[in-house]
Amino acid sequence: MLAKRVNRIGLSTTLRISAAAKALRAEGVDVVDLSIGEPDFPTPEHIKQAAKKALDDNFTGYTQSEGTPELRRAICGKLLRDNNLRYEMDQVLVSPGAKFSLYLATVALLERGEDVIIPAPYWVSYPEQVRLAGANPVFVPTREEDGFRLTPARLKQVLTFNTKMVVLNYPCNPTGATYTRDQLAELAEVCQRERLWIIADEIYEKLTYDGHVHVSVASVSPEVYKRTIVVNGLSKAYSMTGWRIGYAAGPREVIAAMAKVQSHATSNPTSFAQVGAVAAIEGPQGEVARMAAEFVRRRNYLVYRLRALDDVSCDEPHGAFYLFPNLSNFYDRQYDGCPVRNSYGLAYYLLKYAHVAVVPGDAFGSPDHIRLSYATAMDRLELGMARIAEALTRLQRPRITRRIDLDNVVTKVDEMGETEVTRGAEMMDRLVADASHAMGEAEYFEWNASIGGSVVQLRTNSPHLYRFWQENWYPAQLESDIEPHGVIYGVKGLAGRRSGAVYSPRSHTGFVINTAFYGQLRALALGLVSDIVEPLSGVHVVRAAAVDVGGRGLLLMGGPGSGMSGQLWRLLRREGVRLVSSDTLFVRHVGGEALADLVERKLYLKTKWVAKEDRLSALFDCSPLENAVTWAHSNDRCDGGEDCPVTRGMGACYRASDTSRALLDPYWLGGARRHVRRTSLRAAAIFRRDPVGKPVQPMQPAEAVSLLEHATLGNHSVPWLNEYLLDTSAERQEAQRRLFGRLFGVVRPHGVNTAYVAADTLTDELLGLL
Ligand code: PMP
Repeated sequence: MLAKRVNRIGLSTTLRISAAAKALRAEGVDVVDLSIGEPDFPTPEHIKQAAKKALDDNFTGYTQSEGTPELRRAICGKLLRDNNLRYEMDQVLVSPGAKFSLYLATVALLERGEDVIIPAPYWVSYPEQVRLAGANPVFVPTREEDGFRLTPARLKQVLTFNTKMVVLNYPCNPTGATYTRDQLAELAEVCQRERLWIIADEIYEKLTYDGHVHVSVASVSPEVYKRTIVVNGLSKAYSMTGWRIGYAAGPREVIAAMAKVQSHATSNPTSFAQVGAVAAIEGPQGEVARMAAEFVRRRNYLVYRLRALDDVSCDEPHGAFYLFPNLSNFYDRQYDGCPVRNSYGLAYYLLKYAHVAVVPGDAFGSPDHIRLSYATAMDRLELGMARIAEALTRLQRPRITRRIDLDNVVTKVDEMGETEVTRGAEMMDRLVADASHAMGEAEYFEWNASIGGSVVQLRTNSPHLYRFWQENWYPAQLESDIEPHGVIYGVKGLAGRRSGAVYSPRSHTGFVINTAFYGQLRALALGLVSDIVEPLSGVHVVRAAAVDVGGRGLLLMGGPGSGMSGQLWRLLRREGVRLVSSDTLFVRHVGGEALADLVERKLYLKTKWVAKEDRLSALFDCSPLENAVTWAHSNDRCDGGEDCPVTRGMGACYRASDTSRALLDPYWLGGARRHVRRTSLRAAAIFRRDPVGKPVQPMQPAEAVSLLEHATLGNHSVPWLNEYLLDTSAERQEAQRRLFGRLFGVVRPHGVNTAYVAADTLTDELLGLL
């Protein structure tokens, strides 16, 4: 299993677009590639000559890890000359590319859990680097009308005690936004007051236009200088992307820390490339100016063409080589009956139908835009623009517009943590005190749920837990002087505690700690309620799905991999079959019948179940979602390839994650024809993989009880197939034995083996049990 922090990051969208463009080109399609992030000019001759000579002189061994003294000296000279910044050589670190310099700075400065402010639109790698360092990116949207610049007012709004750093990139990739000295000074003053670190990514410094003079933020005051890491490199200014030379300059102790990491990660930047870099920095600068002049010409052409198009707006940037037009007016328009839903969809359409590669704005945290690079010869730009203009006019307005905005929350923790069961009153008292302290008053929510008749009160500082709790359960009236049957605290920000749950069976009090993953809260609530109702009223809380046919119910039990869920959705495709619950039932014995009730308002479903039933996808689009994957990425389940729904412009991929959930209203499956809240159970199907067993085989009640008691999921033992059972005392186990014994006395149990029978035949056999 991959490390979670790696699994969470996406593969660079720009790389994926360029791979898709190359693949089309290999099929003979003449793709105009406007996704390019590098100058289309050759590296100047004198730089190549210097590197060649170094090769001839056998300068091919390791160099100092922090870069050759010659290059660091040249960089110090450059920083003084161009940026009015005085650094000693031990304040400069040369790395294999500015990207790696940035990565080193995040690793060296950030502690786990700290916040880093990233103005959006942002260059794609900042958030992922911050995440890899274990910290949190905090995005601050900038506005087209502000020229996509971060303003001091916006910055102040998002600062918290947890903010450690601000990333400033100017000229900006993708917007081209730049800052004047005064604008930088105002921003720096805010950072200074809050003692924030600044990472200044100045890689496009040499590519500024219209008389704009580049100023480094580190030069605005001696105080800012002390808390800024200036990052720059040779890729863009000298057309040296493949040479991999970048550098960072900053306070000695930070640079030394970065150098330590580098020494273990890559040793040194390539020896002869460093020689070329010295020649670039110290040699003639005429090529840079010529390149910049050509970029202005292309920018002017593209801005003019884009602004002439209906429904397009485009800011005129003064730096870098990108345009970032707003094309959101085209979302929901259609081609071949297929809607373009968002920037991914538009980029996909332009690539497939107009053969122009562009990068969707979503990749930069800006859904309304796309990025066009003008690092391409003028005749290609003309062809690309003509194709874009034509393709946009071909998009048709739909007669009915239904824009789907997903209602999705991504939680920091998205898996179940452990639940600790405690009988110690002291520990619970301490937790209550800590929780009350952590929750404060600013964000506090309380709501009484009726769970199968028991009143459970949630007290939380998580808006997400509060929202899902309210959606999931029926409300309970509660007189102010009556205590609820159980209380659950959902507390974020409890210092020194791992995410998970704590539960006291004595007081029916639970804690969901440092996680907003609703699965954790729901499981605790169901476990708590079963603890209350089973001893008291003989109601049996069964972890199982059930379907109903004409008032007769079939119970389906089986964990992941047993084939149960596949059969559940097959059964539901048959006429007359209605879903009772997909997960948990409250069973009561009344007059010799076992009545099973669904006590939840909504079904908390794994979105992965779209693989069993495609109809679910459209229903999930309109349901509250948790951790649905809304970016195309690469992990063990998803290659982010062409069939990736996100690449095609769907709102989310429901299959890519195990921990993605939806709260589905069961009536949406087809109203009362497809859903009923109560059934009278007649048969039980216990799914198991058994190489020799018959597809459906009657079992003795005692045999079924014993099978369930010793059940496993994966390689964990999960008695009664019920992960929600909290109290594992002998007394409660005995109670389960008794309850299942009683249930199987009324409801005939069957072993079901999905291994060797056609699925449809099995569906027939299961229906035959009713
Ligand atoms: N920062 C920004 C804003 C960039 O656009 C890029 C390259 N696309 C880099 C850093 C990385 O440059 P290098 O080639 O030096 O790693």
